[in-house]
Amino acid sequence: APAADSPLLAGLNAEQRAAVTLPPEHALILAGAGSGKTRVLTTRIAWLLQTGQVSPGGVLAVTFTNKAAKEMLTRLTSMLPLNVRGMWIGTFHGLCNRFLRAHHQLAGLPQAFQILDTQDQLSAIKRLCKQHQVDEERYPPRQLQWFIAGCKEDGLRPADVPASDSQARRKVEIYQLYEDQCQREGVVDFGELMLRSYELLRDHDAVRAHYRRRFRHILIDEFQDTNRLQYAWIKLIAGLPAEQSEQAGGGAILAVGDDDQSIYAFRGARVGNMADFVREYHVQHQIKLEQNYRSHSNILDAANALISHNQGRLGKNLRTDAGAGEPVRVYEAPTDFAEAEWVVDELKQLVREGMARREIAVLYRSNAQSRVIETQLFNAGVPYRVYGGLRFFERAEIKHALAYLRLLENPRDDTSFLRVVNFPPRGIGARTLEALQDAARGLGTSLHDAVSTVPGKAGANLAAFIARLDVLREQTAGHTLREIIEQMLEASGLIEHYRGEKEGQDRIENLQELVNAAESFVMQEGFGRDAVALPVDEQGAVPSQSPASQGLDPDAPMLDEPLPSAPAVVDADTGETLSPLAAFLTHAALEAGDNQAQAGQDAVQLMTVHASKGLEFDAVFITGLEEGLFPHENALSDAGGLEEERRLMYVAITRARQRLYLSHAQTRLLHGQTRYNLRSRFLDELPEDVLKWLTPQRGGFASIAPQPIAARADWAGARGSFGSNFSAPQPSPASTGHAIRAGQQVFHVKFGEGRVLAVEGAGDDARAQVDFPRHGVKWLALAIAKLTVVE
Ligand code: ATP
Ligand code: MG
Repeated sequence: APAADSPLLAGLNAEQRAAVTLPPEHALILAGAGSGKTRVLTTRIAWLLQTGQVSPGGVLAVTFTNKAAKEMLTRLTSMLPLNVRGMWIGTFHGLCNRFLRAHHQLAGLPQAFQILDTQDQLSAIKRLCKQHQVDEERYPPRQLQWFIAGCKEDGLRPADVPASDSQARRKVEIYQLYEDQCQREGVVDFGELMLRSYELLRDHDAVRAHYRRRFRHILIDEFQDTNRLQYAWIKLIAGLPAEQSEQAGGGAILAVGDDDQSIYAFRGARVGNMADFVREYHVQHQIKLEQNYRSHSNILDAANALISHNQGRLGKNLRTDAGAGEPVRVYEAPTDFAEAEWVVDELKQLVREGMARREIAVLYRSNAQSRVIETQLFNAGVPYRVYGGLRFFERAEIKHALAYLRLLENPRDDTSFLRVVNFPPRGIGARTLEALQDAARGLGTSLHDAVSTVPGKAGANLAAFIARLDVLREQTAGHTLREIIEQMLEASGLIEHYRGEKEGQDRIENLQELVNAAESFVMQEGFGRDAVALPVDEQGAVPSQSPASQGLDPDAPMLDEPLPSAPAVVDADTGETLSPLAAFLTHAALEAGDNQAQAGQDAVQLMTVHASKGLEFDAVFITGLEEGLFPHENALSDAGGLEEERRLMYVAITRARQRLYLSHAQTRLLHGQTRYNLRSRFLDELPEDVLKWLTPQRGGFASIAPQPIAARADWAGARGSFGSNFSAPQPSPASTGHAIRAGQQVFHVKFGEGRVLAVEGAGDDARAQVDFPRHGVKWLALAIAKLTVVE
């Protein structure tokens, strides 16, 4: 073996080494958290390149987040002197974006098409509902958004969606209207990126054949969370085994995953893709990795014990040589506020002991939980960074500025037009805009093109708005991105507007930060330095010993240079590349979760558990471990939902290297209501010997001894129908008061036995939240519900 002693392989264990050096055939790595799956995938790419089995242009690698893609590129360039520009490494969305830009004509899109994020999508749908008099009570825009996204994930265009009743037909109609609107405006949403590029591959034989010849190795991380459409997309690019040949090409697929970390079923992820892949590709190589390199054994024991409560797992073991380490600390706080205080105290202690802030993560199940933690961090003066919350590019002033930029790029972008036509206010009222929208609909044009039809003063105001943009477009032609943005900020009146606002200073600073964000984007992308993308190997793998043909370009950027991370985008037919502005706008839409404002600063990381997948930290805090919150109340009603929550908890625990902290609060203010929550059942599923309780253990999910008390002295019938399943309940001591408490096992005549999750209010208003195994979670008015406590 030519490269058996390659330094790339040093430090890998035998199974990892076997995986890295597999022959170019289909393979599956199925292994638990922290076992080196991502590391193996990255090292395999480096190894294939180094041994000349593939050139950079012949590699297609899919990661789950932009952050992971960046990390992979960074690691690759640290392993090999490599020009990564020709490599296709990114998320499904990032790759599809690149693909559609390259073939925009075939895809029926303008090259500078803009991407709607979920917020933009919702406002586009709301606008459409207004225009078409959609009853928003009956068809809430959010539900429509969900419906459309779901259709696209299943690969369904409006014509393919089965609709049996009038309500369903109306939804399909709206879906069609939405598609028309997007097409007219030259915008695509996230689901469209995926579906459109799938259709392009499916319908254009030449394109498909080209990519099949080109991509010799297709590597997919986090395969357990791919959805149906993504797997179908992979099959198109690789071809099925019967379609693969020396001549026709077709890459070797390496799928990497962990069934225990499948946490996106709610968004269409299909863990069954793993089994389908093994069957459809006759996978001969299935590799298991069982050594965990990430966590101390107390943490790992906690994770293993927790996940063992799930049924039907594919079954994997994890062991570590890392030693027991610190115990897992558990804290019970009286309130969410106190919980946040505790988190901040503990993490300040870690920082005093020398831990870097960026190595500390605070995780929560739902975004809304971050606010109270943020407040505490802010008050304590601890720098922090939120992933997936209100991100830099989602702030109102930034979105306004981006809308102006989008209009410079594409005047027919109606979403952007409506966002800023009267912002800052310039006397264009709602009625004028309605008239304008009617006119545009009548003419079948964009709002921009319909402006001339609006008469009078209103028309003049609109025309002035457009003229202002036209002038700006002309003035900035050929200017650098920085200059364009600076001039836009002035010419739009945004800066001036915020200057007059009481709390405008922050916003102005954010707008100035936009200039910095653009600047660093240009640096990374090398616009101006070499705006044209480097030639890409179209032949696919042609093993050759010459370093240049392997992409081992001696002039390639090395470690200390800024990393060209985003893909170069070139029209496949014309060779046309995006303008820096269009590229930047794409970046702004795709760059999920990167808070540019605080980039580079050493900051504590805040994120949802979903967003933490694949990442690791020295210390991890998992907060809000309460029934109804984590596991989430929406998941409690069916076993599948509960198992997905447990996998989510498994993901959360296994992010930690050295320290793990778990906390819950007895009361929590959520969505404007105080909730009394029972601690999460997941805490009770962890082995006692790895835990250290920092507060005295009170009644928990398993440890509460139920007392025989009834909410209402109306239990005889219940008893009769349920026989000896429970002992005789006794009447409530007081008819107005109630004695039901969280943690109790209760019986309801209609719903059967269930567990009380929370109790709220008093007297006649008292309500209890009860989890009934067969009927789901219900809120019951205690004065009415016939609840009896079961012993
Ligand atoms: P997850 O399931 O969470 O995505 P993973 O299986 O992808 O985890 P990696 O992130 O690749 O795991 O690896 C976990 C950690 O272990 C990383 O810090 C990685 O560098 C380290 N690691 C992996 N293999 C080895 C090894 N052979 N020797 C030392 N460290 C290793
Ligand atoms: Mg990984």
